[in-house]
Amino acid sequence: MKIGVLALQGAFIEHVKMLRQLDAAAVQARLPHQLEDLDGLIIPGGESTTIGKLATEYGLMGPLRAFARAKPTWGTCAGMIFLAKNIGIEEQPILGAMDIAVDRNAFGRQIDSFETELAIAGLGAPPFHAVFIRAPVVTAAADGVEVLARLDDGRIVAARQGHLLATAFHPELTDDLRLHRLFCDIVKETLV
Ligand code: GLN
Repeated sequence: MKIGVLALQGAFIEHVKMLRQLDAAAVQARLPHQLEDLDGLIIPGGESTTIGKLATEYGLMGPLRAFARAKPTWGTCAGMIFLAKNIGIEEQPILGAMDIAVDRNAFGRQIDSFETELAIAGLGAPPFHAVFIRAPVVTAAADGVEVLARLDDGRIVAARQGHLLATAFHPELTDDLRLHRLFCDIVKETLV
């Protein structure tokens, strides 16, 4: 099992470290041919406009769209924005892979970063310490999208659609490996 982390911009090194703690073969991916032998891909948090711009320049948009259609792909924060079908901004390049609508600037400018304890479906106790940094939220999820976590006010911050996973926060900035383990399990399921 080989998992790539899209390494154009953002918190990719942290994801590689988390995957290696789980004994998964983890590599940085930044060129189209590097996607070819991957079984799964994580798109990290960072700045989705920059990730989109670099992916376009590197000829990665088509290969990434094809990858996300076929193989497990997990977007965290900016990665979730990049994975979404609808972000309400026509000009920004996104993969449009997951049937969710996302609001990029969900928490405004003032209270733009916070941490909270989150109950995530399937992970059990204790709650997940979730770090939100200028985070997006899911504003609409199509049939077939499973909501995994909501904030106390009901807004969706984690979801799964088959082989696609999206989280609005940064699990790679904690030492909780449970979401990375879940993603590795999704990848393993596709290999049997
Ligand atoms: N607000 C950022 C964006 O629009 C995402 C922030 C993050 O990934 N921590 O891409």
